[in-house]
Amino acid sequence: MCAPMVSERAANSSRHIKKGNLNVMIKITKFGGSSVADAEHFKKIKAIIDADPSRRFVVVSACGRRFKGDTKVTDLLYLVNAHVKYHVSCDDLLKDIGQRYFDIADQLGLSYPIRDEFAAFADKCRKGEYTTEELVSRGEYFTGRLMAEYLDLPFLDAKDVVAFHHDGSLSMKRTAELVAERGPKSGFLMPGFYGATREGQIKLLDRGGGDISGSILAKCLEADLYENWTDVSGFLSADPRIVPSAQPIKRITYQELRELSYMGASVLHEEAVFPVMEAGIPIAVRNTNAPEDPGTVISDREDYLEDEPIITGVTGKRNFVAVHVMKDHMSNEVGLIRRVLSIFERYNVSVEHIPSGIDSFAVVVNGADVKDSLWSIVADIKSEVNPDNIKVVDNLALISTVGRNMSGRPGVSGCLFAALGQDGISIRMIAQGSDEINIIVGVRDEDFERAIRAIYNAFSDGDHIMELSELESLQNASSIDLSTKA
Ligand code: ASP
Repeated sequence: MCAPMVSERAANSSRHIKKGNLNVMIKITKFGGSSVADAEHFKKIKAIIDADPSRRFVVVSACGRRFKGDTKVTDLLYLVNAHVKYHVSCDDLLKDIGQRYFDIADQLGLSYPIRDEFAAFADKCRKGEYTTEELVSRGEYFTGRLMAEYLDLPFLDAKDVVAFHHDGSLSMKRTAELVAERGPKSGFLMPGFYGATREGQIKLLDRGGGDISGSILAKCLEADLYENWTDVSGFLSADPRIVPSAQPIKRITYQELRELSYMGASVLHEEAVFPVMEAGIPIAVRNTNAPEDPGTVISDREDYLEDEPIITGVTGKRNFVAVHVMKDHMSNEVGLIRRVLSIFERYNVSVEHIPSGIDSFAVVVNGADVKDSLWSIVADIKSEVNPDNIKVVDNLALISTVGRNMSGRPGVSGCLFAALGQDGISIRMIAQGSDEINIIVGVRDEDFERAIRAIYNAFSDGDHIMELSELESLQNASSIDLSTKA
């Protein structure tokens, strides 16, 4: 569906690679840990790269899990670091890690001197000569070295282009300059997850940050598309452990993705959206093990198509706490909500929602954030605000139904609430984002999965999520009197 948009960008971009007389688009192609787990996956990647001449800028994670119960190289490296720190031998661990790389190199007949390089690395580890960040970054470094040779691409060390400030934050401006200055124009392979300060000190992004490296590179190169290859065929419209028939999402906006990720859906690192979103570059999430699957395209297209699903996805998180504050004539008392919120701020607790009535409001926070401070917060509210009553409701689960197509369409929330009512699920809180792309309901923790299923089923015919063209029949089916909705 995003094809026309991509070729439009291609036509306008000045950075396209020349192949003969053809202008080829720029795609940043990022492969996650499970996609580079072993030699068999390296082969799959080569086939993917060879299938499309615009895939010339590749980013890789460190080798991930090969099978259920296996350990990612990055986790093993953190373990090596801990052993070194506590002066415990890490020889067995290093042997296991090294072997993973040797197997790949041997099976693919690569000439990169991995045994020598790895021996030098292991030696330095044992002597405690690495910082944690440099030691851990070697996972992506060695994976990148082998992959670069296998794909016949120049290796661009992330430490030479991905620029960090000393406080660990990223310098996007300097990174863009360095990529322009040092990155081979016809393509290269860059390891993800790390970069360095001006002085060459290695710094890491967050865990799972290879996704962010790919996004940064896409922005720097003004790419037409950021392809993020992983082990699932894009985002599903619900957690398949809860809704086994959940269907893949074909198209989603950055904003919808933010909402779904924040509330629990995890395929792409949350922060990876920002660099490409700012640059208006679409992301395609694809499956290395099923490259023919279309995956999910994330872009800023918000136009409505009649064959689009009414909702994009349903997700949620458990373990929220709502602190209800009740006081007569509250609405006339200036500054009361601010005073209550400043108490939460004092305890460094971030507030998720503030549903309010005339004489009451609730502050909804993440249960883990108030584990130690909840009763001190309640005591402070009592003494500083003097409410008539305070009620704490814990074990609250929040469920977010997300969909750009819900906005401005009467009856959608009616269907949603009717579904929960018909299933006997009591709604304890309701919130809606100002852009109307999500409806959040709070239910008891024990109703969490049932509520997700009820909402999903309300918008699905068992096979697929109903399309906009089917909205009317959906409204009729849920017997909502639309004359009362506007
Ligand atoms: N290897 C790093 C991790 O496991 C980064 C990544 O895979 O994106 O967190």
